[in-house]
Amino acid sequence: MKDRLRELLKNSYSPVYNYPVAAIVECKDGQTFEGVNVETSSPASGVCAERNALYSAISQGYKKEDIEAIYIMNKSDNICFPCFVCRQALNDLCSEDTLIVSFNYKGDKSTSVTVKDLCPFSFGTNDINVK
Ligand SMILES: [Zn+2]
Repeated sequence: MKDRLRELLKNSYSPVYNYPVAAIVECKDGQTFEGVNVETSSPASGVCAERNALYSAISQGYKKEDIEAIYIMNKSDNICFPCFVCRQALNDLCSEDTLIVSFNYKGDKSTSVTVKDLCPFSFGTNDINVK
């Protein structure tokens, strides 16, 4: 997984913040969906790697209960975690026990956390009666 994430980082389009990120969504049936961050000159129209990969899975018909884990790697020595826009998407579109695994570029540092632990006191689909 780490080698594929490292390879994917080459596809990141991040000329604004120069902070390449790659993500792979792993579904329980073994299917994977890949994404990188894509920036534009207007930051709000860009998308983070984890949302890019997650939306690909959803676009192919996968549901929150199908998603096992999301692997993330950035091109630095430090581990990164999803931004708060992504946390809302993860909270809405993944199960609370979906694992988020983040690696630094070398892959010698990693941290795993569940969506539930990543998003305490969240606002989500249950609050607005969306199933
Ligand atoms: Zn994000």
